[in-house]
Amino acid sequence: MKLKPWQWIFLAMIAAFVVGTIVNRVFVIEREPDLVFSKTGNSLIAIFDYVGTLFMNLLKMVIVPLVLTSIVVGIAGLGNTEGFARLGGKTLLYYACSSLVAILIGLTLVNVFQPGLQDGKPNESIRKQIESNEEKYSSAVSGKLGDRSGSGMNAVTQLFMRMVPQNVFEAFGANNKMLALIFVSLLTGIGLIFISPEGRGPVLDFFKGLNELTLLITNWVMWLAPIGVFALVAETTAQTGLEIVKLLGKYFFVVILALLTHMLVVMPLVLRFFAKVPPRKHFYAMRNAILTAFSTASSSATLPVTMRGLQKNAGVSKRVSSFVLPLGATVNMDGTALYECVAVMFVAQVLGVEMAFSTQFTVVMLALLTSIGVAGVPSASLVAITIIVYNVGIPHPEAVIGLILAVDRPLDMTRTAVNIFSDSCGAVLVAKSEGEELFQGESQ
Ligand code: ASP
Repeated sequence: MKLKPWQWIFLAMIAAFVVGTIVNRVFVIEREPDLVFSKTGNSLIAIFDYVGTLFMNLLKMVIVPLVLTSIVVGIAGLGNTEGFARLGGKTLLYYACSSLVAILIGLTLVNVFQPGLQDGKPNESIRKQIESNEEKYSSAVSGKLGDRSGSGMNAVTQLFMRMVPQNVFEAFGANNKMLALIFVSLLTGIGLIFISPEGRGPVLDFFKGLNELTLLITNWVMWLAPIGVFALVAETTAQTGLEIVKLLGKYFFVVILALLTHMLVVMPLVLRFFAKVPPRKHFYAMRNAILTAFSTASSSATLPVTMRGLQKNAGVSKRVSSFVLPLGATVNMDGTALYECVAVMFVAQVLGVEMAFSTQFTVVMLALLTSIGVAGVPSASLVAITIIVYNVGIPHPEAVIGLILAVDRPLDMTRTAVNIFSDSCGAVLVAKSEGEELFQGESQ
């Protein structure tokens, strides 16, 4: 029996859950006092971490050339800037609407299920767990916090600062310079349209060749995906003990239910009624990207796979995908925005803080604004959650946020899958509205 690449990735993920749970139960938790066992457990986790990081690095390695060349070829290849503003307008409108809908789903479910309460009062078991580990949780958070005084607006103004690099090569530096990279690529693509044909020809040919090469290397990297995915998921499962996940079970349930409602109900409706494409086909086209996002918990690292899926399987043009996707990987984060809202409301419930309607409205607005500034890397939304919590005046939230952080990874994996899926739906929607014919060829 010959398995398809995505089936290998899926199998690797299941195997990783099993192996990770065994490592957690046998080597890490139950035999903790037994040095030999806990040492073995830790070395296994270190090996998973090593292999997983290598895979993440391989993916990140192709981001800069891929984004640069796709945007340049996508724009300069067209030969005119007509319709460019229209494309931008549609894209931003989609980002704002889809994130807002996601946040409202989260807000509704967190109010209905009230995961931080038990019989109408702040949950005692969570409170006890926090009290007995307060120092550990608080210090876990304060180490990661950074600036707490920022506001949602601040997050947006910072965005423009991050967009314009001092030196063009800075844009090609670390991966969290995605906005600068997009900015430089857009300038290059648009600029090429206006220079002489003699100047444009060789430069454009160079970028076209480089684009082909980067896509080929992305294909090669994806052959290693089952191994990388196995290592990443096994590491997370081995590290996140089941006990703590059980304690926060209701919170987990609400977050996952809200994320799945957005991804499996709202997005398919958007695909069917607005983009007029069959949702099933789109899910199938994006299967590798969804699995990769889930295992890496990083929208940025998943970007090459998302691009490849949309261009090759869905047939979205370079012009649209190279514009909507890289921008979406940092700016459009439906899962993250939804999560921020649920997490803040949960913190308030656990601490017994009443959230009036107007405060909840502020939470929604801040979740929308801050999600724009969150980088596409694991656990990035923690800082945004803290900004919101401080802005709406919830006192001493460190320990609760620390507890959330302790179980963040599985939720991060799920919200990242939602983040990139929403980007891909946006690209399909925009492509359709630009008159593109999609889903013609065979899905790879
Ligand atoms: N890990 C998420 C992403 O990369 C960001 C977050 O919510 O922390 O999309």
